[in-house]
Amino acid sequence: MPLPCDLLLTNAIVLTMDENFTLYPSGAVAITGDSIVAVGAQEGVANEYTAKQTLDCGGKVVMPGLVNAHTHAPMTLLRGLADDLRLDVWLLGYMMPVEREFVNPDFVRLGTGLACAEMIRSGITCFADMYYFESAVAEATAAAGMRALCGQTVLKFPTPDAGSYEDSLALTREFIIQWKDHPLIVPAPAPHAPFTCTPEILQACAALAVEFDVPLHTHLSETLFEVENSRKEHGMPVIPWAKKQSLFDAKVLAAHCVHIDEGEIRALKHAKAGVAHNPSSNLKLASGVAPVSKMLELGLNVGIGTDGPASNNDLDMFTEVHLAALLAKWMSGDPTTLPARQALAMGTRLGAHALHLGHLTGSLTSGKRADLILVDNERIHNSPKFTRDPDAVYAQFVYATKSTDVTDVLCNGQWLMRDRKLLTVNEDELLVAAREYAKKIDVFLIQREESILQKLIAIGGAVEEESFEVQVKAQVDTEAQVLSVLNSEALTIIRARHYHEFDAYFLFDDPAQGRLRYREDEFLNEKGKVTQVRARLTLTGPSREGEFGSVLLSRSRYIAPATQSLRFYREYFRPTAEREVEKDRRRWLVTFKGVEFFVNLDRLLTPARAGFYIEIKSRTWSRRDARDKAAIIAELLHLFGASADSAVQTDYVELTTNTSQN
Ligand SMILES: [Zn+2]
Repeated sequence: MPLPCDLLLTNAIVLTMDENFTLYPSGAVAITGDSIVAVGAQEGVANEYTAKQTLDCGGKVVMPGLVNAHTHAPMTLLRGLADDLRLDVWLLGYMMPVEREFVNPDFVRLGTGLACAEMIRSGITCFADMYYFESAVAEATAAAGMRALCGQTVLKFPTPDAGSYEDSLALTREFIIQWKDHPLIVPAPAPHAPFTCTPEILQACAALAVEFDVPLHTHLSETLFEVENSRKEHGMPVIPWAKKQSLFDAKVLAAHCVHIDEGEIRALKHAKAGVAHNPSSNLKLASGVAPVSKMLELGLNVGIGTDGPASNNDLDMFTEVHLAALLAKWMSGDPTTLPARQALAMGTRLGAHALHLGHLTGSLTSGKRADLILVDNERIHNSPKFTRDPDAVYAQFVYATKSTDVTDVLCNGQWLMRDRKLLTVNEDELLVAAREYAKKIDVFLIQREESILQKLIAIGGAVEEESFEVQVKAQVDTEAQVLSVLNSEALTIIRARHYHEFDAYFLFDDPAQGRLRYREDEFLNEKGKVTQVRARLTLTGPSREGEFGSVLLSRSRYIAPATQSLRFYREYFRPTAEREVEKDRRRWLVTFKGVEFFVNLDRLLTPARAGFYIEIKSRTWSRRDARDKAAIIAELLHLFGASADSAVQTDYVELTTNTSQN
């Protein structure tokens, strides 16, 4: 007496992708409810089961749905926004400012809907996500009928969904409680990365994951820069540092792991952590290639991910599996490395294990959820077929099959696509809404790119608002006169400092933008040794605001600490020209006639100039105040032995020649 089942798939090449790579050239799969009840040779299964519905697969391949082990699904809405940039410029200069402005639950729901449509079309049934408003990601994913590990992002700075990391942790807890018993969604805390989180955040996220027995999704060792910084700051690379913060108390899914050594791979293995290898993203951002062969050899569960659609730029797992196989061969110089079926295992079973969802999905095994796809392997780029080598079908799949060959997708026992028609997502509606968002984002960025000030504010640069200064500068042949006045009773020294200053000035086509100065101050002690380094950005106004004889009134629009490298600012602001000034500066804060002034005595090193420049300056608040101070400055200048006639109207930038031209 045959057993009943809901759905019977017959006449298929069944790739189970189980531990033994069991393959049925003429196979069948029986499904009841959300689960697989039998997989095997056609005659066996078809005789054993009678189904409410039988589907003749017409000789297509039936295999587990692909597992996208790492993505940021809602970023479909930011695809193509900014490309060919370095990771920091891309992330801090473009993605994060746009996200701050636009990301809300509506954006996230729409972006996830688009991602689900794209992923279903390319045979993905399960993915690991990390984004903001993750509850909206979960809603849209569940509505599309897909399975996902949804990671709620936690960062040390404010995010679109939380003003502080304390809020973010509270939100994550709520999110986990809300979704933890859902049939398709597995919620998780997602501390973004060790360098964007504090030790407390890593510890709290791990504790949260342990408390609710859910996985934890994060980025580890993506770039060499990150690893070098970790060594510098913590005296160890990223994996041991994360371990020290108890991160691996949780079931970790670690994206990237590009720059890790064998010891770190063993540490990950010991912690039962999964890894998501993201070949396209790592190549496009020139991060490097993860040592996946070594990871696999040591028994790590390594899945394959697309990473976010703004850094890939698509969600096509066929490309990723293909690239993973090719890259591993190229890296080892050995074409037998990472054979096709192992690469495909990474895209399915190993990926599911990396997500800690291996008990649910990743292979066609009785008892697992019915997450499977039908693939047409008779198309022109996929023909002909050979039977001599049973592994040929895997090679065909990895090296020739395309995502567009996927015809049908079933997830959790529900059809998401039949004959290439999506059943749970309305693509047309989503595309219309996506175009509207793209228009708004375009306008926002176009406006921002027109203003250096807006760009500065966008990267969190503006901490001090505009200020006015009266100042004079004059050339003096020797320092003797200046020093003797400073040491006399004519004025009182409040503070004396000695610096080595390096300035890079960014100049722009439109002089109305002003110019941006990146300054590195090295504080020197009495012995001339560097005791401290400080970097700052100053945006100065386009022109002088006024003149009082030789004394000028100038405006500095914004001053902010420079938290990124000069290279970052150069790539972000793209100046038309750049000038360098290097000087030895002695600076005194003095009072003269009851007014505070800064006196700078500069020796120009670049461009090299004989003699010294003296600068006298003071903050001012009103035109009247400026005029009064200008009069005192003129007196002081005279005292220093520099007449008003010797005042230089040019500044250091004008003394320099172009050092670079973009
Ligand atoms: Zn990522």
